[in-house]
Formats: sequence, structure tokens, C-alpha cells
Amino acid sequence: PANSRVTVVGSGNWGSVAAKLIASNTLKLDSFHDEVRMWVFEETLPSGEKLSQVINRTNENVKYMPGIKLGKNVVADPDLENAVRDASMLVFVTPHQFMEGICKRLVGKIRRDAISLIKGMEVKREGPCMISSLISEQLGISCCVLMGANIANEIAVEKFSEATVGYRKDKETAEKWVQLFNTSYFMVSAVQDVEGVELCGTLKNVVAIAAGFVDGLEMGNNTKAAIMRIGLREMKTFSKLLFPSVKDSTFFESCGVADLITTCCNNAKLLHLLLLTSGGRNRRCAEAFARNGGKRSFDELEAEMLQGQKLQGVSTAKEVYEVLRHRGWLELFPLFSTVHEICIAVPPTAIVEYSEHTPKFSL
Ligand code: NAD
Ligand code: 13P
Repeated sequence: PANSRVTVVGSGNWGSVAAKLIASNTLKLDSFHDEVRMWVFEETLPSGEKLSQVINRTNENVKYMPGIKLGKNVVADPDLENAVRDASMLVFVTPHQFMEGICKRLVGKIRRDAISLIKGMEVKREGPCMISSLISEQLGISCCVLMGANIANEIAVEKFSEATVGYRKDKETAEKWVQLFNTSYFMVSAVQDVEGVELCGTLKNVVAIAAGFVDGLEMGNNTKAAIMRIGLREMKTFSKLLFPSVKDSTFFESCGVADLITTCCNNAKLLHLLLLTSGGRNRRCAEAFARNGGKRSFDELEAEMLQGQKLQGVSTAKEVYEVLRHRGWLELFPLFSTVHEICIAVPPTAIVEYSEHTPKFSL
């Protein structure tokens, strides 16, 4: 019987957990082949061993998701072309800046269904290009998206969360993706609004950076809530200006307000007398940036705090800024534009100083 073979392209923090979720389902469901291939961007660990070999020996991604068994049916493969060769369902989950290069390597090599879990966009001369469109256009395949309030470290230990699949036309394919990801602790629903879902996931990273600035400046919860409200409004306005088909209801799904909340929350906890902070990476690094008065760059903080994981919000803020400048929309988006300006030059305190320019009426 023609059961679907799944390959996960990417094996970072979320990529590893996505492979774990999928692998638990392919074992249970007859419509999927048991084995899940996971493409690993190869690297050599301090022990001298290759990451892909260690994943296959220990069944753990010891660098990006240590301590979590992925499932015996996950096979790490450092050869991209080989990893996708037999797949009929492709799950793309790498930091967004690497996708253009990956797509170039895959041109003409696949004719299958894809889904993108990637939060981010590319800005081209012709205008902004969402990652799912990049995949569709370069590879000539359809591409759904899956976004949501999904901090990978929490899903790895099977804490309950929800997610949203966005699809364009083909409801049947969307349902297959829902089946592949849905578990008792990961509740997935589908909406017909691929751009809305993807823009929510992408733009909330800019708001998460703003929330981190507020935490670093110790402004408190009211300020954070104001930033989140203004951020959500800018997310909606920007999405609808780019794609008038985007639905209001999408902002109430997991991909919208729920993801915004989880990535702006700061669940610092005192554990064994050590102050450990968890939660979103964008917020955490932005908090450190503001605490240092903007004197240490995001590149430096990312390398030090994330140990190889990647931030998406800083580059997304730049990409959004380019779109705003090019289209003459800067004044309509004081929060988005201030986040980028703080990332490159102005002091973090500017995050609340723009408020007098904020439009007083809903756009
Ligand atoms: P990550 O932040 O852990 O990034 C590290 C990964 O990038 C590693 O697999 C590394 O090998 C790879 N990498 C480094 N250099 C590379 C290169 N030159 N080419 C290709 N790959 C390279 O990755 P992640 O957390 O899996 O995030 C992937 C996407 O998922 C992002 O768009 C992110 O926004 C999104 N996402 C992440 C989370 C999360 O909690 N981590 C949750 C939801 C969505
Ligand atoms: P960070 O990349 O800020 O950790 O956010 C993860 C995420 O997108 C949760 O849904």
C-alpha cells in the first residue's frame, strides 16, 4: 500500500521535537511509513564525533534537544538529497535564513507535499516573500504551514499545547498534516488562511523582542501588556495590507494571540538557588540586550546564550522595516519600526517613547 514517507528537513531545537511528535504518530497510523528521516546540518561535536552519528547511536539530539529520546524510528541523515529522495511528505523546519540555500539544492529533486514550521520571511526586490511561498515557487510544490504557541522545550516534555495548520485550498492535504502532528498533548486544528497563519508566526517574533526590551528595562506587566496589544494590532494591520485575504479569526487561533503571549511571557523561576529563565529565545536575548543598554550586539548575545540555536526576531524586524520603508508605511507601524531601530542604533528606552506617535484610532 502507498503509505506516506515523511522527511523532516532540519534538526534544531524545534526540528528535533517535531520529528519526535511525528515519529510517535507514524508508528501508530497505517497511512504513514514508520521511519521518519531527519536531515541534519552536519557538525562535529567537541568529542570529535559527528552530530548525526551521535543522534543515531543515542536517539537524542545531544546538542539542540538534550535529554529527549526522539523515537527509535527517527533516522538522522546528513545528506540532504538522500534524506528527501523517497519522501512524499516534507516538513521544513530550519532557521529561516537558511531556506533559500536549501531550496536551491532541492530544485527539481522533489514533487511532493510540504509543510513549513519556519517563522520568518525573505525580502526580495519584488517585495516580501513568505517562506512557504519560497518553497512553493522554487520547488513547484504546494506548501502548508504549521505555527502556534509552541516553545519546543515545553512540547519536548509533553506539556499540553495547541497549534494551527494553515492551508490554501486543499483541505484533504491539510487534514493529513493535522493527523501527522496531532497527539494527546499537541492539539492541532486547520484554517484556510496560509498567509495569515504564517504572518502571525513570523511577526510575533518582532513583538517578542519588544517584550524582552520591556523586561530588561524592568517596566512591569502593564507596559508589557501595552506592547503586546499594540504589537498584535500592528501584526493584523501589516498582514492585511500585504494580503487582504487574511482573516480576523486567524489572530484568535493558537498561531495568533496564543503564540504572542507565550513568546512574550517571562517564566523566570528560582530553582536550586540559581536564577534560571526559560521561555522564548527572542524575548530572553532582547532582555539581555536591554540590560546591557544595547552595548552588546545581538550576534554576540545569540552566540553566548543560545549555543548554536538561532534568533529569528532581529532579522525579521529588519525585513519588516525594509518593507515598511519601501512602501512608505513606517509611520503606521511605530512598534515594528522602533524595534528595528533599537536593534541597530537607538537606546532600548525608545521602546516606550514612540507611544505619542501611535495612532489613536484603530487602523
Ligand atoms: P534552532 O534555532 O535550534 O537552530 C539551529 C539549527 O540550525 C541546527 O539544526 C543547526 O544545525 C542549523 N544550522 C546552522 N547553520 C546552518 C546552515 N548554514 N544551514 C542549515 N542549517 C543550519 O532551530 P529551530 O528551533 O528548530 O527553529 C527552526 C524554525 O522553527 C525557526 O523558524 C523558528 O522560529 C521555528 N520555531 C522554533 C520554535 C522553538 O521553540 N525552538 C518553536 C516554534 C517555531
Ligand atoms: P523563540 O524563537 O523566541 O524561542 O520562539 C519560539 C516560538 O516560536 C514559540 O512558538
